[in-house]
Amino acid sequence: MTITNAGSFASVAARERYVPRGLANTHSIFVARAEGTRVWDVDGKEYLDFTSGIGVLNTGHRHPHVVHAVHEQVDRLMHTCFQVAMYEPYVELAARLCRLIGDGRKAILFTTGAEAIENAVKIARAHTKRQAVVAFTGGFHGRTLLSLTMTSSSPAYRQNFGPFASEIYHAPFPDEYHGWTSDRAMGALQELFDTRVTPDHVAAVVIEPQLGEGGFVPAPIAFLQRLRALTERFGIVFVADEVQSGFGRTGKMFGYQHAGIEPDLIAMAKSLAAGLPLSAVVGRTAIMDAPLAGGLGGTYAGNPVACAAALAVLDVFETEGLVARAAERGTEVRAALRRMETRIPAIGDVRGLGCMMAIELVKDRTTKEADAELAQRVIDAARRRGLLLLKCGAHKNVVRLLPPLTATADDIQSGLDILDASMQEATGSAS
Ligand code: PMP
Repeated sequence: MTITNAGSFASVAARERYVPRGLANTHSIFVARAEGTRVWDVDGKEYLDFTSGIGVLNTGHRHPHVVHAVHEQVDRLMHTCFQVAMYEPYVELAARLCRLIGDGRKAILFTTGAEAIENAVKIARAHTKRQAVVAFTGGFHGRTLLSLTMTSSSPAYRQNFGPFASEIYHAPFPDEYHGWTSDRAMGALQELFDTRVTPDHVAAVVIEPQLGEGGFVPAPIAFLQRLRALTERFGIVFVADEVQSGFGRTGKMFGYQHAGIEPDLIAMAKSLAAGLPLSAVVGRTAIMDAPLAGGLGGTYAGNPVACAAALAVLDVFETEGLVARAAERGTEVRAALRRMETRIPAIGDVRGLGCMMAIELVKDRTTKEADAELAQRVIDAARRRGLLLLKCGAHKNVVRLLPPLTATADDIQSGLDILDASMQEATGSAS
């Protein structure tokens, strides 16, 4: 077959003609290729990628070791469906994920983050024989109906999509910048237990150790510790949603490790397989084994090529010391953002863990009124200058930085220089 008109679909007009508007694009560009920390659009323009495909590319675009492992696997076996006939990379990956977490764990693989969350809830319900689930405001757990019911980071995600799943409750996330101290958030959770659902009816509490889509807010260590103690007291399954914060992003392998706690179940996805669709739930054996045989699965869940990619990702973490590098790069990013904060009054807050840093943009530092237009102007200016960034936060006024953890110090510095220049341009303070 001859392909005519090659490239004619790489146009906004074609995209608008054939793809629905419900799928929004942050950047109106078509990417043709990528390598490490860089992508090139179809016109050949080069960008530093500080989005990592929403936190998927902690090992960078097309890491040679991952690409090699994928090629080798494609040449051997692409699919059986693990429920039909098993293959070694699935079990090897399960074993390696368990080893990362601790003794007495089992791991099951899925395809997306939302699926990992939904299955964590199913497993917790099967284990506890309880129904209720507590999630936190500002949390993002996915777009499928159960995970969407748990998601509360933006009304756009929920618009006209109800009715939602039942027995999902929300408690305020401990967002100190906006007045939700750990004490106040714990009090609100207690009030939820006093007035709406008693803890002995709660199967699971699901929390992101650092809010992702909800604004890059790390949960205070004390809050996570108190939540862990409370869930232990009432036999509630503690689920850490590490879909965005996992795999070195926060300067530890998983975000919950900053608090020195051990969750019962951990949902992982995104950077697990460096761009191939793969997710996992890893947890305590007694809980993981609660669903009956046949209760869990999926046609593509734990696809062999994705497993091969994930095994290579874990190799790269070891050989390149990526967790330590993330912490180092994160320190550089934090210092640069703090310096920007002293010069630019529109930066209301600098926050995050490791290489999961963000700035919250405000019209006024006292009222903390969100400046979403400024965040958009900054992102557009940065793109023109060759840097891809993302927003987050309920009010779309948080600019987040998610560079690959493999980025060199020079690449990080170049990206920060572009961000600085873009902030000056967008606030009208350019010299
Ligand atoms: N949980 C978190 C914390 C996420 O950031 C995301 C995706 N942004 C999800 C779950 C859902 O993952 P997916 O889009 O792969 O379903």
